[in-house]
Amino acid sequence: MSNTEAAGSVRVGIAQFGSGVFAMRSFRARQTIGKIEGQRFDDPDYGSDYCMGLGEASLEPDPPFRFLNHHCLPNCELWEIEYEEEDGEAVFELWLKALRTIQPGDELTIDYSWPAEAAIPCGCGAPACRGWIVAAEELDQVRRPKSQPLHTRRSHRGQALAGLAGSGE
Ligand SMILES: [Zn+2]
Repeated sequence: MSNTEAAGSVRVGIAQFGSGVFAMRSFRARQTIGKIEGQRFDDPDYGSDYCMGLGEASLEPDPPFRFLNHHCLPNCELWEIEYEEEDGEAVFELWLKALRTIQPGDELTIDYSWPAEAAIPCGCGAPACRGWIVAAEELDQVRRPKSQPLHTRRSHRGQALAGLAGSGE
């Protein structure tokens, strides 16, 4: 599926905290929604508000998937595939897949699974919301201040997603 096709099945719209990606059609569980296109950066220290881990590198994603929001009970996941080109060079691609049935109009969300040091308060509204945008296994490492205003999802996103891929910061 090309990004053009993905653009016909999803759209960028207004979400709870800024922009979000919304389904324009239904998707089955495990169905591929689209490829995350973007610019690849091989610098392990590369970080930005939106970058995603891709192999040992980072991907600065293009719209629409640039605007995927976090949810503690997401309906999508990023799926990294690796294959070899004819010249033997490894190619990494990042795809978005549905985790469960998605209806037209649903916002598409992923679990950012940020490391504890990048965690910010989460306002996703899931009944089992962790309270923080952080990897479930690192939740107990997050210090819990008495109260803190909700940040927008843009804060620290690049740093955190680079951590998600294990490529360091
Ligand atoms: Zn949450």
